[in-house]
Amino acid sequence: MIRFYNAKILTMDGGFDVAEGALWTDGGKIALVGAEPAEHPAFEREIDVQGNLLMPSFKNAHTHSAMTFLRSFAEDVPLQTWLFEKVFPYEDRLTEDDVYAFDRLAILEYLASGTTAFFDMYFYPDATANAAIESGIRLVFCGSINGSAKDVQRLNDQYRKFRNMHPLVKYRLGFHAEYTSDESLHKELAKLAAAEKEPVYTHISETKREHDECIERHGASPA
Ligand SMILES: [Zn+2]
Repeated sequence: MIRFYNAKILTMDGGFDVAEGALWTDGGKIALVGAEPAEHPAFEREIDVQGNLLMPSFKNAHTHSAMTFLRSFAEDVPLQTWLFEKVFPYEDRLTEDDVYAFDRLAILEYLASGTTAFFDMYFYPDATANAAIESGIRLVFCGSINGSAKDVQRLNDQYRKFRNMHPLVKYRLGFHAEYTSDESLHKELAKLAAAEKEPVYTHISETKREHDECIERHGASPA
């Protein structure tokens, strides 16, 4: 058990009330919040929070963590130019080892800023899973039928592999975007999602150009 004491505690338990006192953890669970009983078990570690705030962690709800290697690169161009002319050519040259190293860098930054979970779409999912498990951070894959997987069978294989891999890892179904995939992929993915009763995630209507070109292609908006 770990004892945090002398803390202000934002529990988010139906409001923004701040409790004062201690917080105990027991394994992966919170065992006590607030006033402590006089009699208590032995602690493995005790941390004086010095009156600072303990609060639930942040979650990064949309990321491509290994893109740490492209940070500050070509920030001054529109999305489509940035993606097709700047990002994709570099991503084509990434190896699995590269993705592992860039993920580890991202995870260090997540943990240092109080972020304990991330929702990640990228290539080489084994590298990302290993980086997350070794770091003790929670990972939810946004599987990409036209990214890490390439077709529905491989997406299904990844879904089955990673959702049972480790308690810290989950896997959700998705595709990169309307403008990088086609209708036949969407239909195959829809069948898998319906069979598994899973939601589907994607980038959608991020720019006016994406929206306009989708209307040209399909007579309808991306959604
Ligand atoms: Zn994105």
